[in-house]
Amino acid sequence: MKKAGIVSIGNELLNGQTTDTNASWLAGELWGMGIVTAGVWTVPDEVSRIVQALKTAAEQTDILLVTGGLGPTDDDVTRQAMAAWLGVELEFQPDWLEKLKAFFEDRGRKMAPRNRTQAYCPAGCERLDNSVGTAPGFCGIADGVFWAVMPGVPAEMTQMFNEHVMGRIRGLAEGGPVVVSGKLRCFGASESDIAQQMGDLMRRGRNPLINCTCGSGEIVLHIVATAADKTEGMKMLQDDKHMLRELLGDVIFGEDDSGLSLVVGQLLRQHKKTIVIAESCTGGLLSKILTDVPGSSEYMLAGWVTYSNEAKISQLGVYEQLIRDFGAVSEPVARAMAQGAAQKSGADVAVSVTGIAGPGGAAGGKPVGLVYIGVLIDGVCDVKECRFGAASRESIRMRATLTALNQVRLRLQI
Ligand code: AMP
Ligand code: MG
Repeated sequence: MKKAGIVSIGNELLNGQTTDTNASWLAGELWGMGIVTAGVWTVPDEVSRIVQALKTAAEQTDILLVTGGLGPTDDDVTRQAMAAWLGVELEFQPDWLEKLKAFFEDRGRKMAPRNRTQAYCPAGCERLDNSVGTAPGFCGIADGVFWAVMPGVPAEMTQMFNEHVMGRIRGLAEGGPVVVSGKLRCFGASESDIAQQMGDLMRRGRNPLINCTCGSGEIVLHIVATAADKTEGMKMLQDDKHMLRELLGDVIFGEDDSGLSLVVGQLLRQHKKTIVIAESCTGGLLSKILTDVPGSSEYMLAGWVTYSNEAKISQLGVYEQLIRDFGAVSEPVARAMAQGAAQKSGADVAVSVTGIAGPGGAAGGKPVGLVYIGVLIDGVCDVKECRFGAASRESIRMRATLTALNQVRLRLQI
């Protein structure tokens, strides 16, 4: 199996200013080609540190992808570091200088003398054109390791990778063993409940290997099969997905990159139902996420953000007495909000959310994180009480939103 290493270069990556999106993007692309990333080395713009990282990374990998430090200023030293690692000189490439000059001329600008440094590249390597910027990349093979250096600017890096590097890597990986991966997305059970139901399927060393990530109440099972070829890998993946579906049942709502809003949208379409949203503590987030899906106008009719009691009364027809008796965050008010929204709109499905997102607002035995979610379908309304605990405001709002979508999914899935 081919293994890759990623070397990310730049002081800004080590002082918290810039997130290393290049490494995650590249790791994702490699993963898609069945290549495992063995490590990411993040180093500052210092020749000795870069050379050290290149040496360490090359010892463990077959493919080395380097980004950053190819600009024209003094702080960009990747060219020098690559030459030092390879044990060669930097070579001036006149034709490249002409290209650089043309790049500026095309944009009605004069090239600064500084850009001349970008026409140097380590002797004996292959140049990689940059069609969107001035920093060219280069690549080569050193001690059996294929290496490529690309600019740090994400748009330039992705363009260069897609145009010049991906094809070369694919050629290297062909014929060998591959990794094939897929995801199963779960909602409505805790990580430990799911692990319990899965028995020893998550044991280390198993093939396929199953890993688990979680966030906002959603649990994602990542299944990674290592196989002789793609066909065998796909079969192993499908077998595992099938087994997990049998074990976990309706906790699984989707596969790979299909989020809850997409799945709910598909169900609404399938059942030919329209939906409206009446939300309070989520402040429009539920409507936003539901309409993130292209084509959602087919089923989504309207959304109300009734934040104040007055709005709940005037917009949704919630009885004032109900709010007085039970409070705005209560089962009867969530029910009345859903009923009001359905009545005003004529939609088949109405969802309501009312809760305490915090950090303040806890009162009368009602803690931060208490949320009521109403789901009305064809006149029948269920209200779920959720206690998300004293998490952050953002987290409570997101969990409430996803739980509401999940409640709709469970009702429509039957
Ligand atoms: P450089 O090629 O080092 O001149 O990088 C130019 C710019 O690209 C930097 O100032 C950063 O804003 C951005 N950049 C560099 N490396 C990365 C990286 N690994 N991930 C995301 N952005 C980066
Ligand atoms: Mg830099």
